[in-house]
Amino acid sequence: MAERKIILTGDRPTGRLHLGHYVGSLMRRVEMQNSGEYDQINILIADDQALTDNADNPGKIRDNIIQVVLDYLSVGIDPAKSTICVQSALPALHALTFYYLNLVTTARLSRNPTVKAEIQMRGFEDEGLPAGFFTYPVSQAADITAFNANIVPVGEDQLPMIEQTREIVEKFNRIYGETLVLPKAVIPENEVQRRLPGVDGNAKMSKSLGNGIYLSDTAATVKKLVNGKMFTDPQHLRIEDQGHLEGNVVFTYLDAFCKQEHFAAYLPDYACLDEMKAHYQRGGLGDGTCKKFLINVLNELMDPIRESRAKWEADIDTVYDIIKDGTARARGITDETLEKVRSAMRIDYFKDRSIIQEWEKLL
Ligand code: ATP
Ligand code: MG
Repeated sequence: MAERKIILTGDRPTGRLHLGHYVGSLMRRVEMQNSGEYDQINILIADDQALTDNADNPGKIRDNIIQVVLDYLSVGIDPAKSTICVQSALPALHALTFYYLNLVTTARLSRNPTVKAEIQMRGFEDEGLPAGFFTYPVSQAADITAFNANIVPVGEDQLPMIEQTREIVEKFNRIYGETLVLPKAVIPENEVQRRLPGVDGNAKMSKSLGNGIYLSDTAATVKKLVNGKMFTDPQHLRIEDQGHLEGNVVFTYLDAFCKQEHFAAYLPDYACLDEMKAHYQRGGLGDGTCKKFLINVLNELMDPIRESRAKWEADIDTVYDIIKDGTARARGITDETLEKVRSAMRIDYFKDRSIIQEWEKLL
């Protein structure tokens, strides 16, 4: 029998989702969902993981669960094809994390480059590092394996997490016998989409850095952010000056979002992005024109998302049932994995009474 194709992916409900999420993950989720090639698609709202660096602010996580679900639905995640579920309501994930923690060393966890950068960004070096945050890659291993996922579509920052998961799976299977499925990360082909920079030029657009354009932002906000905040070439002072593309966020975004047909619609002076770039580099193309074009490109993408969001926002009752039903479905899958794990570890003492004979033989 061909291997079943099972996807697990998700987000931390620490804020509304932004364009980085869209190009890094959401866009592909929708494509994969609609391709009909996958047997099961699970999307996890990782509220427990979000608490690892927001323990003092659970209200923020509670508020953002609905925001993230609305973002999913408005980009085209279809609850009939994808299971949307909430992590804290899946107790098997907690139990699995507890067992997997024994299979990793603190030295190994300390080497994770993404976590290292996040610790620094959050000032945990000085304030003290919550043990839950330090170990969250292990809880991600629990999430992935609990769903038996073999395909994990993520942004580039998540590669160390998938590597860590693979190590845990290999170690578990070696010690306790073949039980867990080995997952593979799938990252975008387009380099820019793997890690979209923030509007401020920071290497990553991130909810925690507050440098994002959110999928639910209005057209007026997009205009304000692009015109007011977005980084171009600081040496490009006059239109006739030669412009540089490196580190120029406007062009990075055009690389990520612009399609050939956008030129005919919004900037017919050029046939394609290469022509536009060449003119910018040569001198004679102003930042204002580039920004205006980008605003049009972004709004063309975001208009239908906004429209769809408005419809879902008017029907939160249905949205509630979508995640309630999705979570119930996920509970069945994850409970079953936990049972398999306990049985592989032979710690399922109360499954039946056969252990009594084993114990009696010892006496
Ligand atoms: P936080 O700052 O709270 O960690 P985040 O913005 O990093 O939030 P996550 O929920 O941690 O978002 O990430 C969800 C998914 O989106 C992951 O697969 C991640 O790789 C991807 N992702 C997040 N930001 C970007 C980005 N700027 N470019 C590409 N992919 C991204
Ligand atoms: Mg993150």
